[in-house]
Amino acid sequence: MEKIISCCGLDCATCDARVATMSNDDNLRRVTAEKWKVGYNAPDITPEMINCTGCRGEGVKFSHCEVYEIRNCVMNKGFDTCGDCPDMETCAIVSAVHKYVPEALTNLKNLN
Ligand code: SF4
Ligand code: SF4
Repeated sequence: MEKIISCCGLDCATCDARVATMSNDDNLRRVTAEKWKVGYNAPDITPEMINCTGCRGEGVKFSHCEVYEIRNCVMNKGFDTCGDCPDMETCAIVSAVHKYVPEALTNLKNLN
């Protein structure tokens, strides 16, 4: 499967929100909302919010990713991803993601 790497290094291509959006799968939206409520300690997430075409492309974004501090930082600096940033290895913001999803850091390193 093609990799679509988000600003912080997550693989949007395998993200359930994107898969549910591209296949318009309401059941996957429900399952994903329940999973993310617990996994991200975000009880406000509803199935209706599970709509996203990916971090860096055109189209609808999952709200948490749209207003995401990392995405905004990357855009403001004119980078494609944090992988372009000289501070990536020491950045406290993106390391919060990489602590839980180490493959996101690997994905960013593999872009360069
Ligand atoms: S930007 Fe969208 S597809 Fe990418 S990780 Fe976030 S919710 Fe998933
Ligand atoms: S400062 Fe941090 S969040 Fe911003 S682009 Fe660099 S690594 Fe990414």
